[in-house]
Amino acid sequence: MTPSPESPVAVLCSGGDAPGMNAFLRAVVRLGLNRHKIPVYGIRDGYRGLVRAARQVNGDAEALVQLKQEISRNTGHRGLIDAQQSIIQMDHASVSGIMGKGGTILGSARCLDFHKPEVRREVITLLEKLGVRALIVSGGDGSLTGAKLLAAESNLRIIGVPATIDNDLQFTEMSLGVDTAVHTLVWAVDHFIDTARSHRRVMVLETMGRESGDLARMAALASGAEMVITPEGGALTEERMTMLAEKIEGAMTRGRGHAIVLIAEGVKFEPEQKRNGAYILRDAFQAYFGREGAPFPDLEVRPSVLGHLQRGGHATPGDCILAARFAEEAWKSLLDPNGMNGITALRYNKVEIVPFGCEDLPERSVHSAAMDQLHDDLANW
Ligand code: ADP
Repeated sequence: MTPSPESPVAVLCSGGDAPGMNAFLRAVVRLGLNRHKIPVYGIRDGYRGLVRAARQVNGDAEALVQLKQEISRNTGHRGLIDAQQSIIQMDHASVSGIMGKGGTILGSARCLDFHKPEVRREVITLLEKLGVRALIVSGGDGSLTGAKLLAAESNLRIIGVPATIDNDLQFTEMSLGVDTAVHTLVWAVDHFIDTARSHRRVMVLETMGRESGDLARMAALASGAEMVITPEGGALTEERMTMLAEKIEGAMTRGRGHAIVLIAEGVKFEPEQKRNGAYILRDAFQAYFGREGAPFPDLEVRPSVLGHLQRGGHATPGDCILAARFAEEAWKSLLDPNGMNGITALRYNKVEIVPFGCEDLPERSVHSAAMDQLHDDLANW
């Protein structure tokens, strides 16, 4: 069913927040109101907000009337201020001044209940009763899986929009938030370099990225970090860690004064380890540099786990532009009577819809390996 001026389109942010979500919400709302003349409902706290609203109504006609009244009475800022209101009719002002702001004004959440088919059925029934015919979900891998299930189990039009700093979605070259997170990491590396240079130290910085090394490798390329270790390169054994330490020591003997090493959080170890990778690598490097007869016995290694610092902050222009392009494509697809349910993706610098179920883009691993090689050739001394 195609949306119309009588049937609002709903939008939500789900899973881990990512910079660019707000720029995306602004674009969805403004395109809906200005270009397509279709109202937009903002759903608070992702799927959790939908489940909450569905339970509030719970098949009761009177409760449904009350919910509809709440939505039409408390629009825009009034609805956003009331933390109890799960569904808000968005207006121009409600998305004013939010473009680059990190996080999401609608809130994001994880909702375990949404894994249950009967809970998703309650949500579908609610949306149908509210006259909502289309839903736009921005989030990461898990959120987009939820969106795919909703699409399969209902007559709703569903569009997913990749938003995660991890860049772990194979079908799109970039997700919302990645550009900003890379920017933040470059900023962080710049700060660590000052100390590393002054003290002739090795800094091991652990980045986010879940199972993907993309964030670390992009940050390494953009910052000039001396070494990057990603999950795609295989598990780190004692032997490999010694080889990496040798490489750093070799560069030091050729005149390099410091080293910044990025290690992605998804890197595995053999034998398996419980601690953060940055600490394990620090211990291995420190032991090697301090060995009997080593050329730099005083060389210190300092680890740092960068953590959630990478998720926040002002979205870069690159993310704001991608947000607008994803929003435009989402609307285009929703309004096309032959449009398919799927996910917006950036491929060869074009934004397109990848239908649910066709999310693989195998050439990504080739691209990652080429980027690693490029980094290696740029960073080696
Ligand atoms: P992200 O979207 O950032 O990857 P999660 O993996 O935590 O974050 O997923 C966010 C939410 O998406 C979950 O809390 C849940 O509500 C929904 N979700 C995730 N996986 C599924 C699934 N397999 N089935 C239904 N809903 C899911």
